Amino acid sequence: MKKAKANEKVLSTFSNFFIFFLLAAFVTTCCIMLFISALQDSVGRKFTQEEITIAAKITMINVVLISIVMATIDYLRRKYTVERPVKRITDAASKMVEGDFNVRIAPTSKWGTDDSFNEIIDVINKMAKELSGVETLRADFIANVSHEMKTPLAVIQNYGTLLQAPELPEEKRIEYAKAITDASRRLADMMTNILKLNRLENQQIYPKSAVFDLGEQLCESLLQYESTWERKNIEIETDIAEGVTVFADAELLSLVWNNLFSNAFKFTEDGGKVSLTLSADEAYATVRVSDTGCGMSAEVGAHIFEKFYQGDSSRATQGNGLGLALVKRVVDIMQGEIGVESAVGAGTAFTVRIRRNTDELEENR
Ligand code: ADP
Repeated sequence: MKKAKANEKVLSTFSNFFIFFLLAAFVTTCCIMLFISALQDSVGRKFTQEEITIAAKITMINVVLISIVMATIDYLRRKYTVERPVKRITDAASKMVEGDFNVRIAPTSKWGTDDSFNEIIDVINKMAKELSGVETLRADFIANVSHEMKTPLAVIQNYGTLLQAPELPEEKRIEYAKAITDASRRLADMMTNILKLNRLENQQIYPKSAVFDLGEQLCESLLQYESTWERKNIEIETDIAEGVTVFADAELLSLVWNNLFSNAFKFTEDGGKVSLTLSADEAYATVRVSDTGCGMSAEVGAHIFEKFYQGDSSRATQGNGLGLALVKRVVDIMQGEIGVESAVGAGTAFTVRIRRNTDELEENR
């Protein structure tokens, strides 16, 4: 089937070329005839009809032969330098269409091939690499979500079964019910975070920027943890520059502060300290949230912005490893920067630098 198609293609190429040769030969012969008739006047000798017919025939045959030789050479050249790389590219693209992103196309030999093919191959290879990365991430993401859902669901199931026991003391009933409420809250929080992250990653959230006082927002966010710092007897230290306004999406930014504070209080032992500083220059506002908590190793620090990554397994029940992934995404959307300094046992400091968008600030004042 394939062979018949290939033969058909060769035939059609040659028939097209043949019509073209005949036309070229006819035009060239006519030109030669005109040339001969012009020549006989200037040399002063009349050519016989027979001489002219022979000259016409020789010209015609020569042109046809030369054209066939040239066309064959061109056909072979095209076959090796154009058709082969095109076939390799289309084969790889077809595999990608079928979902195989592990295909890679070997570059064509430099000799005789148009280098543009190597440029196309390079781009397609990069695209395949990106797509296979995305595919792995998607598969990991699903595996992670399923894994993360299993733990709270198991808790709900177990405590649900325990609650069914008759004559359960009131104290136990409250304890089990609380465990179920906590586990379902964790599930709900995880779903909310996944949805937020998904919308942020798919660019479905368009920042709704407005001018607001960043210091005030930070204080409001910090105050939400008042009961926690009182319960854990954590000292709070703040150094907030006054009147630092920014032109940004307040709702998105509050996600950043809430996650940083929540981690700072979560990873700081009783009697520790959490500090907040806000400073600014003309262009940037810098927020630093530091704590005297357990800190983290360089290895943990290298992964904290990945989805579902949790460095401290002992506190795994208090989060789902999505907080800092969300923080990073928001900071990226705002074209800001986030950095972390930490040492095991010495505490952690997150520094976020965001653009104040001073031009827009002036316009919106
Ligand atoms: P979660 O807090 O739900 O585990 P995050 O994405 O917020 O997830 O954080 C990821 C990991 O980064 C945490 O599991 C922890 O190991 C580490 N981490 C984040 N903030 C701190 C902090 N302030 N001190 C120590 N470790 C931290």
